[in-house]
Amino acid sequence: MTKKICVLPGDGIGPEITAEAVKVLKALDLGLEMEEGLLGGGAVDATGNPYPEATQKLAQAADAVLLGAVGGPKWDSLPREQRPERGLLGIRKQLNLFANLRPAILYPELANASTLKPEVVAGLDILIVRELTGDIYFGQPRGIEMRDGERFGFNTMHYTESEIRRIGRVAFEAARKRNKKVCSVDKMNVLETTQLWRDVMNELAPEYPDVELTHMLVDNAAMQLVKAPKQFDVMVTGNMFGDILSDEASMLTGSIGMLPSASLDANNKGLYEPSHGSAPDIAGKGVANPLATILSAAMMLRYTFNLEEAAAKVENAVKKVLAQGYRTGDIYEPGTTKVGTQEMGNAVLAAL
Ligand code: NAD
Repeated sequence: MTKKICVLPGDGIGPEITAEAVKVLKALDLGLEMEEGLLGGGAVDATGNPYPEATQKLAQAADAVLLGAVGGPKWDSLPREQRPERGLLGIRKQLNLFANLRPAILYPELANASTLKPEVVAGLDILIVRELTGDIYFGQPRGIEMRDGERFGFNTMHYTESEIRRIGRVAFEAARKRNKKVCSVDKMNVLETTQLWRDVMNELAPEYPDVELTHMLVDNAAMQLVKAPKQFDVMVTGNMFGDILSDEASMLTGSIGMLPSASLDANNKGLYEPSHGSAPDIAGKGVANPLATILSAAMMLRYTFNLEEAAAKVENAVKKVLAQGYRTGDIYEPGTTKVGTQEMGNAVLAAL
């Protein structure tokens, strides 16, 4: 199998952090082919289009896309169709990425960065699997109309069983690569759509006898995430609940520069990117934390290329540099060694 990666550094700190992830990928010597393209504000400046045709060709031909971040104040006043975020939405849509995977991992060394007590969160390792292309966010009909002399707002929540089944499979498969537990989150006590969600998850379970399936109502899940988050391994849920729960889970860790993410299509082609933005306030200063992007590259090795050993190697190298006390500014505390973006990348390379 060829292993073609389209690298889209983007704007702000994007090029700095992506360069470190590329360095790590190259050092693994896995026969990866990498080609760079333009996306976001830089692409608008060069071509007038945030997702230019050449990038579209590159992304479609690749097996995986590694993305830095896009956007910045320079492009905020452009017409909507030229905004950098349009490029991001465009690529996500064109590649049919329906499954969003967001791990929330709290390395023991960074337990103080969380707003929760260290004993509640130290060692946390959750994966939230969120459906990305359906649910009430896309359901028709929708709108705001006049009815009976007052304004009336409405949206439609719906899922087909095949949509539920395909995201369910992603969750079960992911659990197989982890601690073999899936918690499906719904609101079946009031919403029929999510009753179907629960039924389909139950129908899938016998195909994965090695994975334990449990169910939780979304209100309880929101509570349990802050009360006892370490009870979870993989959580799977719909678009709207996932939007909220994945942000909640990521903030348990307290460090935005550490959070990777993956969005997958039905064939495990994926877009891999840090959860944070382009951080214009620190762009070009060489101080951004590249670890979220390096960990996104590790997810790429695991989920698109099925290279579990190489993925674990990168993750262990990150753990090692944290244990050695290296910290970028965002995760620095007294007594540790403050390093810049490139030094952090070099420390990961050395730990490999
Ligand atoms: P942001 O995530 O870029 O920054 C929030 C804060 O976190 C800033 O103080 C920043 O310095 C810090 N930060 C973020 N990543 C960091 C890292 N790797 N290392 C150290 N510190 C880091 O969010 P924002 O400020 O709301 O948005 C800035 C720009 O990014 C906007 O133009 C926004 O539209 C865009 N954005 C892009 C994406 C994306 O490309 N996926 C996501 C979110 C925001």
